[in-house]
Amino acid sequence: MLCNYQDTICAPATSVGTGAVSVVRISGPESLSIADGIVECSKGRIVDAPGYSLKYGVVRKLSGDVLDDVVVSVFRAPHSYTGEDSVEISCHASPYIVTELLRMLVAAGARMAGPGEFTRRAFVNGKMDLAQAEAVADVITASSEAAHRVAVNQLRGGYSSELKGLRDKLLEAAAMMELELDFSEEEVEFADRSQLRALLEALRSKVTSLSASFRDGNALKNGVPVAIIGAANAGKSTLLNALLGEDRAIVSDIAGTTRDTVEEVLTIDGIQFRFIDTAGLRETGDEVERMGISRSYDALRKADVVVGVLDGSLPYDDIIAAAAELRSGCSDGQTLILVCNKCDLRDADSPDLSEADNILADGKSGAGIDESVLRISAKTREGVEGRFLRISAKTGEGIDELRDAVVASQTGRFASGETLVTNLRHYEALSRSLDSLNGCLRGLDSGLSTELLAEDLRAAISELGSIWGEGGISSQETLNLIFAKHCIGK
Ligand code: GDP
Repeated sequence: MLCNYQDTICAPATSVGTGAVSVVRISGPESLSIADGIVECSKGRIVDAPGYSLKYGVVRKLSGDVLDDVVVSVFRAPHSYTGEDSVEISCHASPYIVTELLRMLVAAGARMAGPGEFTRRAFVNGKMDLAQAEAVADVITASSEAAHRVAVNQLRGGYSSELKGLRDKLLEAAAMMELELDFSEEEVEFADRSQLRALLEALRSKVTSLSASFRDGNALKNGVPVAIIGAANAGKSTLLNALLGEDRAIVSDIAGTTRDTVEEVLTIDGIQFRFIDTAGLRETGDEVERMGISRSYDALRKADVVVGVLDGSLPYDDIIAAAAELRSGCSDGQTLILVCNKCDLRDADSPDLSEADNILADGKSGAGIDESVLRISAKTREGVEGRFLRISAKTGEGIDELRDAVVASQTGRFASGETLVTNLRHYEALSRSLDSLNGCLRGLDSGLSTELLAEDLRAAISELGSIWGEGGISSQETLNLIFAKHCIGK
């Protein structure tokens, strides 16, 4: 195999820390000779070793003292992760030994690798396509069984192969059209229009279902979006803190978080959730607050689960009016969980909220709405008033039941084995290619000129190809962005 890189890189392949074994990875044309420069093997040199073989050796410091006993794994191009000659040195896992080994490798002519550089070489050397290279990072960061399954599927070729087949047929059709253009005077049709239509429709249906899967894919990878919505002072922030409690698994500042919505990621029962605390909904003349409120509605629209927080200390009619408003803001497919907060302040003779069920039932109906609330009410009547879950964010009452309700609303969602698009870059490319495919189909209907049809066809082809990085479509800038997401040594 022709190697595309002249230099040899090195990096720790295992996380640096104390443990049983650490691995230092070297890849590039000089890997084997550089390894020979620092490892003394008693039985022959590393450059003479066959691929897929192990060699035992000793590494000495400049002083001649032993640094460590090591085992060297030898890989010969193209049969390695990167497709280049590569060596993996397994040593005792001590940060000191690993640092010394790397220092010696650099002194012997290797260069420290940047993030994702090994995987980038694998891509450039044709060992994997771009979608597979991206999946490597997803496999490593997958935190649940479902996320792991989807990432492994993508790593093994995923939907690339299916799309590639359809795209190859499109390429043939495009070539035929180009031919028509060459013979434009003679008005011939090499590309059979009805076959082209059938092909475009097959591709459109595949691309449509793949882009529709992004909602689930994104929820799986980045957390199911749960919006906490309600009036100012209903207790939304207090509730978010109560939900996070001591269980806070991962807390992250998600890029794009505005000063008026706060996002926290929490894994419950193996499902990752992204809780979004929003600005309180109310009429306001304040411009800044209005912007915050418009973001709250945005979060409401994008959420899969809406936790509607009602201030239980308010008069009955106000609670019901607020609940009805929240309900009308939700759409089909979303789960609305209505919680009546501050139940510690509601006295015994407060009217029972379950009486409001009819009022709410008369509101907008939707298949997914309230489903999980009904489910928890079947499980336990205690703490539930009709469609309302009684909670106190302050005392913690009802918080476990709310967590259960949130989890129950997602149970089984990611269990199926179908292909999911989890990557935003792929989703955007699919959406653009869908636009071009639709343009082509409209063009066929309206008898658009071959020239314009061919243009839409080429756009659709190139958008699809950009998913797996074919034909030099991906710019260096795109590649830099993709590989920067990998860790060093990967
Ligand atoms: P937000 O504007 O909806 O985020 O409301 P906050 O979480 O800031 O709460 C507003 C006020 O209500 C604060 O003084 C909280 O301490 C109080 N509060 C929130 N939840 C409860 C509750 O369950 N019981 C009581 N008694 N007070 C609460």
